[in-house]
Amino acid sequence: MPLINGLHHVTALASDPQQNIDFYAGILGLRLVKKTINFDAPDVYHFYYGNEAGSPGTILTFFPYGGLVRGRHGKGQLTTTSFSIPSESLGYWTERLKKFNVPFQQPQERMNEGFIYFEDHDGLGIELIANNKDERPGFSYGNVEEKHSIKGFHSVTLSEDGYEKTAGLLTVYMEHKKVAEQGNRFRYSASGKVGDMVDVVCEPDRLRGLQGAGTVHHLAFSTSTDETIVQMQQKLLKAGVHATNVLDRQYFHSIYFREPGGILFEVATNPPGFAIDEEPAHLGEKLKLPSWEEPNRPMIESGLKPIILDWKKFI
Ligand code: ZN
Repeated sequence: MPLINGLHHVTALASDPQQNIDFYAGILGLRLVKKTINFDAPDVYHFYYGNEAGSPGTILTFFPYGGLVRGRHGKGQLTTTSFSIPSESLGYWTERLKKFNVPFQQPQERMNEGFIYFEDHDGLGIELIANNKDERPGFSYGNVEEKHSIKGFHSVTLSEDGYEKTAGLLTVYMEHKKVAEQGNRFRYSASGKVGDMVDVVCEPDRLRGLQGAGTVHHLAFSTSTDETIVQMQQKLLKAGVHATNVLDRQYFHSIYFREPGGILFEVATNPPGFAIDEEPAHLGEKLKLPSWEEPNRPMIESGLKPIILDWKKFI
């Protein structure tokens, strides 16, 4: 069994929670599959957006710290999270972004695929990449029709001084292979499939990134079981990479470590998944707390800004 399957989730920092929900669930039509708290800072929400089930490789999560100042995109960061859309849907998406006054760059092409780049209200870099290689089904949860829906990740872009060290970690220890190269962009993947691509872009002259709203906090890779995550941890420790203990994140179990360029990586188990504490038909509807925070629910709820998902605003 491979120790790494591909991508699991991307976690980013945001400011206002309501604007965050409006953008990702309302405009982009992702499903809010879990509404919980930051387990390390219970006064902050943790939102998980994904496809219908919140499958690994579709999940973008946010810690929306109200009032958090913007960060700076740069080296040592995951600078762009790219989602996969059907090849005929670019026009639909440019119209939809216009309709909701989201500025976007004119469509461009990379490695024979058309894409559009835009940023959320905090400046987080997002792309929609049109392609006909993605076999994952679409879904509709809100106002984006299934035939145009975002299917999950396409790839992520890491900005680095050089590609060699990060590529070494990915290929020697994390089951990735080089699958493409264009200019200063080197593409790796564990599965070879759309949704599992990691683009390492060499930008030695760029400033280093600074963490804040609109920047990515970490990138998580998928592993299959509680056995494979321990094997991965031991493999990293033997290689001199300081991986943490396995932590219980309620919906998956995780280890964390820094890649050589400074980006925080995580390896997360696919099980148990988001249906562990809510029915699949009702994911994301209630504020879910881990069992150890349940006694503090009244205090936690009173400290969080109420949010609503008003679909009618995003037709
Ligand atoms: Zn994570």
